Amino acid sequence: MKTETRIVRAGRAGAAHNIVNPPVYRASTVLFESYAQIFEIRQSQERRLYYGRSGTPTTWCLADAIAELEGGAGCALFPSGLAAIATAILAFVSPGDTILVSDSVYGATRLFCDNHLPNIQVKTVYYPPAAETIERYFDPSTRLIFVESPGSQTFEMQDLPAIAKAARARGIKVLADNTWASPVLFRPLAFGADVSIQAATKYIVGHSDALAGSVAASQEAWPAIEETARHFGQCIGPDEAYLAQRGIRTLAVRLARHQESAMLVARWLEKHPLVERVLYPPLENSPGHAIWARDFAGASGLFAIILDENYSARVPLFYDSLKLFGIGASWGGYESLVYPADPVRTAEPWSARGHVTRLHIGLEDPHDLISDLDNALQLMRA
Ligand SMILES: *Cc1c(COP(=O)(O)O)cnc(C)c1O
Repeated sequence: MKTETRIVRAGRAGAAHNIVNPPVYRASTVLFESYAQIFEIRQSQERRLYYGRSGTPTTWCLADAIAELEGGAGCALFPSGLAAIATAILAFVSPGDTILVSDSVYGATRLFCDNHLPNIQVKTVYYPPAAETIERYFDPSTRLIFVESPGSQTFEMQDLPAIAKAARARGIKVLADNTWASPVLFRPLAFGADVSIQAATKYIVGHSDALAGSVAASQEAWPAIEETARHFGQCIGPDEAYLAQRGIRTLAVRLARHQESAMLVARWLEKHPLVERVLYPPLENSPGHAIWARDFAGASGLFAIILDENYSARVPLFYDSLKLFGIGASWGGYESLVYPADPVRTAEPWSARGHVTRLHIGLEDPHDLISDLDNALQLMRA
């Protein structure tokens, strides 16, 4: 089955009473029919309702759908993307370990690594996202590599198959934050990663109204993910699970439109005199283009621009003049957004001097979006 067919069907087999979407089961307590049934359900190898935290048909539907789309042996669900990231890292590290993290990683992932991991004697080393070889960062304590490709603020691509091959030879786990592509456009597990993480908050939910995270894992990595998520009491609320599974059904059509519009807007911005550079891997002159074209089935609607450094003082006017782009964090909904990026770098300095603005191109008419940007850039220049 092709992706477009799978996103319609995935996870729905267990939905109750032949209703198209799974009902929202609200449950903490589940009543047992007898004393003996407690133990029967506890010991059962099958999925059975036992207690809300361990899952309901609503959450199973979402977990099964994401596991299938990511090609994982299983999928654990979380209340946010960040909870998914933190738990996935904790599943594999112990005191004395070092983890390698891309220098262009999502800001909150960096804060978790820098502020929490030292408490358990785990060291984080940041590697340049475009590093020629990952091996030069290996030492005997290297336990895990955290890849985010493209980086969600500055869009550097990483060669995941090459990283995974080097890691596998040393027994190092590879975790990929796959939020930009969603499992429709890229499947990290098929390219050698052990774990694929989604901030489902973004494209999977797709309507900017719920937070959710997922971790899909290979057969080998799944037991550690399942156990760690369970030990930490990680679970997702029923409404969030419902909204995320509903979002999946339209993921492919939404992404196709996000890409089409984002390409039009990006190409227009590329030619604008106040735009120094457009950071978007599907553009032919983007440094990561070859990797993107080789491994990805398409692009989502998130990219960044570097504005002419001579206009840095007038950037607020650009933001405040936009009428169709909201100023807001997050992305992946149907609406267009701008947000200032703040590239933090410790492996190699960030060299561009101009202001970096991240744009999410929503489902509005792209020509309206271009007019809006045109107007705001003109006011910035005036
Ligand atoms: C938003 C985001 C996250 C975190 O997701 P939340 O649901 O907001 O916690 C993680 N990684 C990337 C790439 C993101 O864009």
